Amino acid sequence: MPRVVGMISTSGTAYRFTDLFKGFEKNEAVRKIFGKETETVLQNLKVRFTWIGGYMWIEPRSKSLVISSRYLKEGDKTDIYLDLIHELVHVKQLMEGKELFDAEYDYADRPTEIEAYQAAVQEARRLRLNDEQVCEYLRTEWMTSEDLRRLAASVGVTCT
Ligand SMILES: [Zn+2]
Repeated sequence: MPRVVGMISTSGTAYRFTDLFKGFEKNEAVRKIFGKETETVLQNLKVRFTWIGGYMWIEPRSKSLVISSRYLKEGDKTDIYLDLIHELVHVKQLMEGKELFDAEYDYADRPTEIEAYQAAVQEARRLRLNDEQVCEYLRTEWMTSEDLRRLAASVGVTCT
């Protein structure tokens, strides 16, 4: 699994993705997203840190990846890795001019989210997480259990 390196400042400094996360340019799941452009995209991807809670997200305006410093420091390493795969799919969607936060859809039904979760779940399967562990990964405080079931079904996972 790729690794996280270095110390992080939260002063608003933008980091290069490749300076913080090593080995992603050789990662199969990532190469599947960007193909031949993988190195270029990752080198140009800016990462910023925030004290605001949460996990990580893409800020479309600055085209950067925002990560909660606390999550990066204290979060489960597998969760973080899978989240990075998820967010990288959003980076590609943004490059394709897609609307990431299309309010026409609920979170669990939004095509851009389903595509991003599909990539993360596929990687989770490769890491041999079972359904229960995948469901645990998919569970977030902003989704009801009905949303979770629906999203999980969309990505081929059964959550009870
Ligand atoms: Zn997402």
